[in-house]
Amino acid sequence: MNYYHKNHLINQNLLLIKQAKGFQDLIKVVTTFKKQNPQLKVISLGVGDVSFPIVSPVIKAMHQAVNDLSKGDTFKGYGAYYGYDFLKKQILTHEYQGLNFTNQELYISSGTKTDVTDILELFSPQVKIGIPSISYPIYKYGALCLNRSFELIPGDSKSSVPNRKYDLLYLNSPNNPLGIAYSYQELKEWVNYAQQNNCIILYDNVYFSFITSSDKPKSIYEIKGAKEVAIEFRSFSKSISFTGVRCSYYVIPKELNVQINDWWRLRTFNRFNGADYIAQRGAAASYLPAAQNLIRFNIKSYLMRAQLLRQAFLRLGFEVIGGIDSPYLWIKTKGGLKSEAFFELMLRELHLVVIPGIIFGVAGDDYFRVSALGKEEDIKIAIKRLEDYYA
Ligand code: PLP
Repeated sequence: MNYYHKNHLINQNLLLIKQAKGFQDLIKVVTTFKKQNPQLKVISLGVGDVSFPIVSPVIKAMHQAVNDLSKGDTFKGYGAYYGYDFLKKQILTHEYQGLNFTNQELYISSGTKTDVTDILELFSPQVKIGIPSISYPIYKYGALCLNRSFELIPGDSKSSVPNRKYDLLYLNSPNNPLGIAYSYQELKEWVNYAQQNNCIILYDNVYFSFITSSDKPKSIYEIKGAKEVAIEFRSFSKSISFTGVRCSYYVIPKELNVQINDWWRLRTFNRFNGADYIAQRGAAASYLPAAQNLIRFNIKSYLMRAQLLRQAFLRLGFEVIGGIDSPYLWIKTKGGLKSEAFFELMLRELHLVVIPGIIFGVAGDDYFRVSALGKEEDIKIAIKRLEDYYA
């Protein structure tokens, strides 16, 4: 049976995803270019992956966790569907102090990429979902995988609140790809919108640890009334280099206007067997003072790299957004080039990989995204190439 013959059996929305420009298409172009030009050092400024390894106190805790699994009295099997208390306690103490969340409101999981889509399983297929027109592509593609329809909200996610009603709204701060975080005032407007429209905000907060500006809230729950309207998602991926280990968490407050906690437990019990024990032990150890010092150093280093990139692009006359409370910069292309043409130019002339804005939505087609999560020496070489080219 060939692919087309079978088409009617598969989720037709997967074809929509296949047709859209995605990261997978970029990877193909870059891989082919590298194969054809093995002598060139291609540097990726595109990577959303981290470059620091996991810090030693966390590694030690994961080794210990492996040992736990080897002994009858410390072995862990099924059962912790919503996460282990030892990790929840650390998160509630260190991340949400003063907010009075209980264990029951916090869920441990295995990555925000899946969490932000899985949450849709709780809601009726009829709910109106709003997704910012420039955003992390998984909000759209995840919804399509689950056969959910959605509307793109015009403008970028920094724009003012929409003038129409949504039941669910994806917001992301610090934002990928825009590289900026909401101020208290901006976030207050979104919380007010959600209250007035009986809407639930799905707040993707995976980059919260990069916020350093004092006028930017780290959590949406710092805004009065947010517990009634927001589910906040966070991940250990970028903060402690767990992109390969996988551990995340999210909060469903009991004050939420729609009482969903019991329903979500029912759903989760039937769809998930809990996050990895070893990962959770590692994540818990990241709150040890010795680990915190190392982790803060890593985050600071990424932010310094973002500054290097920001200053370099500004010097070269680019219009730059972001890179202060986030490892990402959102930069306008030069010479009126659309984002894919600019991506091609960077790859073929400078041997640099940037992410064309169209990947994040058609509205982003005059921009490209640069990441500061790569190695410092690579970033410095990239800056030199840019300076030589635009000199
Ligand atoms: N949300 C945003 C905005 C992201 O940029 C990413 C990863 O790049 C994720 C979620 C995925 O996080 P995780 O590694 O926890 O799945």
